[in-house]
Amino acid sequence: MGVTGASVRLSSWLSAVRFPTRRNNSRQFNAFTAVGAGYDAGMRGCVLCRSQLLTPVVHATKSWRTAINRNQNLLGKLIVVLDRHEEVITALTQDEWAELHREVRWATERLRQAFAPDHLNYVFLQNQDRHVHLHVIPRYAGPRRFAGLDFSDPDWPGHYQPGVANVVAGDALDAIAAALVGTAAGSGLITSP
Ligand SMILES: [Zn+2]
Repeated sequence: MGVTGASVRLSSWLSAVRFPTRRNNSRQFNAFTAVGAGYDAGMRGCVLCRSQLLTPVVHATKSWRTAINRNQNLLGKLIVVLDRHEEVITALTQDEWAELHREVRWATERLRQAFAPDHLNYVFLQNQDRHVHLHVIPRYAGPRRFAGLDFSDPDWPGHYQPGVANVVAGDALDAIAAALVGTAAGSGLITSP
């Protein structure tokens, strides 16, 4: 399915990468998922166990989902989320590591094409959410303007400051997602084996 415009609504094709329903009823809010009507919560009260993250998922493999981070203080921030509840990085299987490598390569390529970052940070933090996930954080030597919004990286080239929030509206999230998917060579494929 091709996605070519920044204004394209992604809700229809995002359904293709949703994972099977999991259990729990806990509610929680953090920077990259949001509570909304009709969501199904994850295991153990874990927001990352939800079958549907409420930010756009732009790519998925068997074991990982790559989603837009609600906090876009650095344009194009992504999270790559394991599809099962595991809290220990070293407990990942070899297949999961291999898939993560491919997923990070995908994210890196698309970010470069969409926003031309000058550098990228890749970090496992898991301070707020223990569920294994990798942050892919673009860094910028200069400002960017996208979807009518201005983005900067005031800490460049030093360490970014954690806790700085720029939670953008849903339309901007969709536009960022469309830019990532639509800039791909080929068809805008959002899933891979
Ligand atoms: Zn979890």
